[in-house]
Amino acid sequence: MNHQNLIIDAEKKLQTIYQNLDKIEEENSKKVINAFKENNVSEACFNMTTGYGYNDLGRDTIEKVYATIFKSEDALVRSQFISGTHALTTALFACLRPGDTMLSITGKPYDTLEEVIGIKENKSSLKSYGINYEQIDLIENQFNVEKIKEVLKKKKIKLIEIQRSKGYSTRKSILIEDLEEVISLIKKESPNTIVMVDNCYCEFVTTKEPIEIGADLVVGSLIKNLGAGMASNGAYIVGKKDLITLCAERLNVPGEGREVGPSLGMNKQLLLGLFMAPSVVKQALKTAILTSYLLEKIGFEVEPKYNEERADIVQNIIFHDKEKLITYCQAIQSASPIDANVKPIPWDMPGYTDQVIMAAGTFTQGSSIELSCDGPLREPYIAYQQGSLTYSYGKIAIETAIEQLLENKN
Ligand SMILES: *Cc1c(COP(=O)(O)O)cnc(C)c1O
Repeated sequence: MNHQNLIIDAEKKLQTIYQNLDKIEEENSKKVINAFKENNVSEACFNMTTGYGYNDLGRDTIEKVYATIFKSEDALVRSQFISGTHALTTALFACLRPGDTMLSITGKPYDTLEEVIGIKENKSSLKSYGINYEQIDLIENQFNVEKIKEVLKKKKIKLIEIQRSKGYSTRKSILIEDLEEVISLIKKESPNTIVMVDNCYCEFVTTKEPIEIGADLVVGSLIKNLGAGMASNGAYIVGKKDLITLCAERLNVPGEGREVGPSLGMNKQLLLGLFMAPSVVKQALKTAILTSYLLEKIGFEVEPKYNEERADIVQNIIFHDKEKLITYCQAIQSASPIDANVKPIPWDMPGYTDQVIMAAGTFTQGSSIELSCDGPLREPYIAYQQGSLTYSYGKIAIETAIEQLLENKN
């Protein structure tokens, strides 16, 4: 079968899965439109503040809309957050005090948090303030329930961090059902421990979000799912009112908290992004599922498989071959709207042990709700692909990549 027929065949086989995604999109769209209505999103919300940013109607309304969608007491949604990492850092520094212990129950957290926590030496880390860190690894993609219970019985844990998406690891991402189970266990053993969920890449993939199942704080990036390619930067934190207040005072200034922070003209982008997010997340998921199906068909190992339940928008292709990983990433770049003629090569990225190759021909720097693909140059040579603002553009890129892979094989 040539690759065009392969795609026609794939789309026939994937019909039912795609239809299921339509239903999820519809339900999430209802959530969004109802939240807009309930919180009186109006044209005046597009006005901006400058300077201190007192009384920014749009900013305050956006936060109410987020709280409604996530069913949380409160929300902090700011373009003063550089990225998801900044929001996660803010939440950790906001909740933890010297002598406290934070515990990760999904193994080592996302790479960019290593210096924040102090796993890697940094003079400004949580560790430098006398905050302890402990970690429990997953066992075969499952929470180590016995160990979690044991630690919670033995000592006082101030905060538990749960990272849903896999990051640059080889584990699976955490499904909402599994998250629900572990949160009820934590709440039973230690009701006062703050449960903080790193929700990056998981928003709107299903119809339930972590606050609904007991999380206290949920954090994510706006250059991923909820920005839908419209937000130029920013991040969100949703959760308990007292904790969100602490986060606002940490991000800004104690005593000024959420009252300051000019929106500088970003409100419309953030609202439009959120409005589009249920649809764009679906486009990204369809692209991931098509990729999984096709790459498996032509003989590569993939994770997750096309018909597996998904927690996030990330698709792995496990190449077991350095050149093939490079070829794939270069092909994705060549099918990108921006810098299509740039050929990505492996480079030494700050903070990473191995060289990394990155395809990111995106409108927003580092945006990974836009089609992007990267991978560290180490065994087993895994490509981490995510995003695509539309399914058609995603499909075109995958077709290009398959063409390149098959050409290089001969
Ligand atoms: C992307 C990501 C982050 C960090 O977000 P940035 O916006 O890149 O700083 C944190 N955790 C996970 C699981 C992520 O995927």
